[in-house]
Amino acid sequence: MSSTRTVIVGAGIVGLCTAYELLQQGRDVVVLDRESTLDGASAGNAGLFSIGHAPLTKPGASWRGLRWMLDSRSPLWIRPSLSPALLRWLWTFHNHCTPEHLERATRTLCALGWRTVQALERILDLEGIDCFYRRCGWMDLILDERNLDAAQREGRALARYGYRTDRISGNELRRRDGAYRDEVAGAIHYLDSAIVHPGLLLRGLLAAVRTRGGSVRLGCDVAGFERAHDGRCVGARLRNGEVIEGSSVVLAAGIWSDPLASQLGIALPMQAARGYHVQLEGTGILPRNGGVMHETFVAFNPMGSQLRLAGTLEIGPTGRPWMRKRLDALTTAARRYLHGIDQAHITAEWAGYRPCTADGMPLVGPVPTIPGLFVGTGHAMMGLVLGPVTGRILCADICGTRHEIDPELLDCMRPHRLRTSRAA
Ligand SMILES: Cc1cc2nc3c(=O)[nH]c(=O)nc-3n(C[C@H](O)[C@H](O)[C@H](O)COP(=O)(O)OP(=O)(O)OC[C@H]3O[C@@H](n4cnc5c(N)ncnc54)[C@H](O)[C@@H]3O)c2cc1C
Repeated sequence: MSSTRTVIVGAGIVGLCTAYELLQQGRDVVVLDRESTLDGASAGNAGLFSIGHAPLTKPGASWRGLRWMLDSRSPLWIRPSLSPALLRWLWTFHNHCTPEHLERATRTLCALGWRTVQALERILDLEGIDCFYRRCGWMDLILDERNLDAAQREGRALARYGYRTDRISGNELRRRDGAYRDEVAGAIHYLDSAIVHPGLLLRGLLAAVRTRGGSVRLGCDVAGFERAHDGRCVGARLRNGEVIEGSSVVLAAGIWSDPLASQLGIALPMQAARGYHVQLEGTGILPRNGGVMHETFVAFNPMGSQLRLAGTLEIGPTGRPWMRKRLDALTTAARRYLHGIDQAHITAEWAGYRPCTADGMPLVGPVPTIPGLFVGTGHAMMGLVLGPVTGRILCADICGTRHEIDPELLDCMRPHRLRTSRAA
């Protein structure tokens, strides 16, 4: 076994970006994924590379969520349950929906934003990955005139971190782009962000990792981990008994990271937030930008000749049957904002899971109690955009080099600290 080999569990955006960065540092990697085709959250998401995006834990979000709980068509829906893990998560979530937490989280996320664009654009340049990446910003499309001022204030709050936004009237919007309906009152344009086809990006990353000498093994279900006598994590064990050895292991298995970590006595408490997408062909006219339809939280993204509509946040256990009415809500929402929805036909439908922590921030970094083990998960609705910088941070952690990111809000041990302080 190579003494610098890293075993990475999960070939989503986080696992593949970490693998790529490690290869760039001359390390050896093997990435394991239990699926034989990569069509999980990292491929099926909305494709908004929205830097500076706020976390879920906005002030008022917990009360809004509670109200929406009664309406299974609402953008955020929590499957009613008395599971202690869910109740604990909801309570912690509620306690983090404060202006102070939002301020701290925004500072960290905005700092990560510039670095993640740089990390992704470097990969795209070096590898020539064609994934419809365009640095055209994203549009917050607004129907109700009364929502425009608040949305503008939200955008302007990012100005102190160097992020630019522009308020555009409905008429000006339609003058620039004929895809928007007359009902749209205006938009806030987040100018520094980008849009991308996430499936093509993931495929390109996978090919790049292989081309650069890394191994990506699909159809390999990781069942547990190998530990050395001194407690160090030295590999992953597959369900068929095969052991893949390494000098370090990265757990980047999305929402499935928690059950895997629990085998090592580590808690990564997260809730799965299922979302859906529909892909439309034949709208006649495609918007030039991607964005979000403000009142419905549904995202849209033109991908080649097709339009992807993605969204809804459904908190509950994985593996339940799809909820048709939530999937249908995507096209219903888009009809009010965009032309051509009714005449288009659906070419694909999809569902996947966002891994959501209770404080809205990812879990990234080394596990101090288990040398050799590193974690990269919990990115909720920001995994595509934060994947490249997460790869850089984990690579620096594994190689023992410095990075400039303040690790406090990303620390993967903070759920432990929270529990310990509560118990005390
Ligand atoms: C509808 C929707 C829209 C979204 N839109 C955006 C967006 O516009 N912008 C954005 O930034 N983010 C968006 N997201 C969020 C983003 O998709 C996720 O945060 C991100 O994909 C998480 O990446 P990941 O690598 O952590 O996990 P995943 O992509 O879930 O990858 C984890 C991998 O681990 C594998 N795995 C699990 N268990 C095992 C095991 N035991 N053994 C081996 N392999 C295993 C899985 O098969 C999977 O391939 C969206 C999500 C959804 C659902």
